[in-house]
Amino acid sequence: MALNRFDGVKVLLTGAGSGIGRATALRLVSEGATVFAVDLAKDGLAETAGSATGPGGIVTHAADVSDEPAVVEAVRAAAAELGGIDVLVNVAGVHKATPIDTLTVEDLQRLFSVNLVGTALFCREALRHLPDGTGVIVNVASSAAAHGNPYMTAYSASKGAVLAFSLSLAAEVVGRGIRVVPVSPGTVRTPLTSNPDVLPRDLDLSYYGRIRSPLGAASPEQIAGVIAFAASRDGGYLTGAEIRVDGGSHT
Ligand code: NAD
Repeated sequence: MALNRFDGVKVLLTGAGSGIGRATALRLVSEGATVFAVDLAKDGLAETAGSATGPGGIVTHAADVSDEPAVVEAVRAAAAELGGIDVLVNVAGVHKATPIDTLTVEDLQRLFSVNLVGTALFCREALRHLPDGTGVIVNVASSAAAHGNPYMTAYSASKGAVLAFSLSLAAEVVGRGIRVVPVSPGTVRTPLTSNPDVLPRDLDLSYYGRIRSPLGAASPEQIAGVIAFAASRDGGYLTGAEIRVDGGSHT
């Protein structure tokens, strides 16, 4: 039976041009949401919009989530286009595996600018529009926030920051009846994990073989399903608690 938990719901979603963000956009549209889809990649956004089917709709908007004026404009445009914002989902993110001896300030700044600052700016701006009592924010962190992974010091720290930010924000806005839910995937089959620029193949990756889930890597759709649950009325009593979706990799 098709779910229709997002009939009439206005969703602002970042990272919609690929991977988990695209799967989430498609899932929410299939359940009736109107999605204002943001990404740096115009081609990716066009592909997402072209794949969307269902009772909902999708509007695309190219922006860099780490650029403050661009975020202010994206949220303003989303609220104007949709007639408000009910749900914010922050998925946009970058990754780069780097051994500690070659870690640069530029790597650290880029990972924190996109992963933490982008998420924080969208939360700040969207909270001016989210309705008291029903507003929801879902922020995608990572299981790397809680578990050590070689070459991921900078990425893990940036995702730990997203997780900590989300827990404190949840406490700050719970009085308004707004929920904030961090979702932390394990390994997901997306361009982020298959790109050799992100995960150079000359690194010794044997550690990752030892923590691989018996369930294998997740599909983007499996993560999208959990994000949709957290953002829906089915997740209505969830806030300030991380949902880890890692196929038991760390059990
Ligand atoms: P992906 O590379 O397929 O998608 C990331 C999207 O973010 C891309 O469309 C990209 O264009 C967009 N993006 C990057 N920088 C941006 C910027 N500055 N402004 C706007 N958009 C930008 O990767 P994915 O695997 O779908 O990752 C989505 C999220 O899930 C990320 O936050 C990632 O850290 C997180 N995550 C992924 C995995 C995994 O194994 N794939 C695991 C845990 C967490």
